[in-house]
Amino acid sequence: MKFTRFSVDAIEYKGVLVEDGIREIKGDIFADWDYTGKVFSKDEVKLLAPLMPTQIIGIGANYVASVDQLPNELPDIPVFFFKPISSVIGPEDEIIIPTGCDTVKFESELAVVIGKKAKDISEEEVFDYVFGYTVGNDVTAPAYFHEAGHWTIGKSFDTFTPLGPFIETKIDPVSLRVKARLNGEEKQNSGQELMIISTAKMISYLSHVMTLQPGDVILTGSPVGAEFVRAGDVIECEIEEIGILRNSFVKKAVSVEH
Ligand code: MG
Repeated sequence: MKFTRFSVDAIEYKGVLVEDGIREIKGDIFADWDYTGKVFSKDEVKLLAPLMPTQIIGIGANYVASVDQLPNELPDIPVFFFKPISSVIGPEDEIIIPTGCDTVKFESELAVVIGKKAKDISEEEVFDYVFGYTVGNDVTAPAYFHEAGHWTIGKSFDTFTPLGPFIETKIDPVSLRVKARLNGEEKQNSGQELMIISTAKMISYLSHVMTLQPGDVILTGSPVGAEFVRAGDVIECEIEEIGILRNSFVKKAVSVEH
């Protein structure tokens, strides 16, 4: 089942994708929801990010180029970081390259949407707590990484977390491939076997630190191949079973005041 949020004439709706369009729903997708009976045509709606996350947590440097490069030992403390929910945009929205850099990086990622409160869960239990999966673009401005190693500012600009186009609830993440095309040319295309820390492992780990809540989004890391991009470039992040998340990059005057 593919959940979405969309707008028509600036009014926001929630819905489920069906063959002949989008069926509107009301209620809380993580608890009680129902169809309203209204169906919208795909042509008349603007897709929004399929949810407004409660929080967004990413993991750094989590893919290798080939299985023989997988490390024998996993890090004791994986590199996790938070992204602000104000950085979320939807399909076709513009990603703004901030003042102070001419280039930023795209990072196509599998984004896991948590569906139930999760604390101290084992790796085996993780998928009972997952609501579904969407595509995320963990846009990054390395020019704003702090020299002491902190990534927060470089990950946090408005528009830096495109999500969408849908939350797919009925897929097995193990078989997914995470892809990206820059201006039509493939740059990323990796399966989950190239992940250093698996989705189950990272969510179990996080649940032993913090209570995960319905609506939390975990960005599971980006395959090898992410590149710097400039204004005018178009990025398509894709997981076939979910859809294509397309955004273009623009340069606007956004400055960080000192
Ligand atoms: Mg990333």
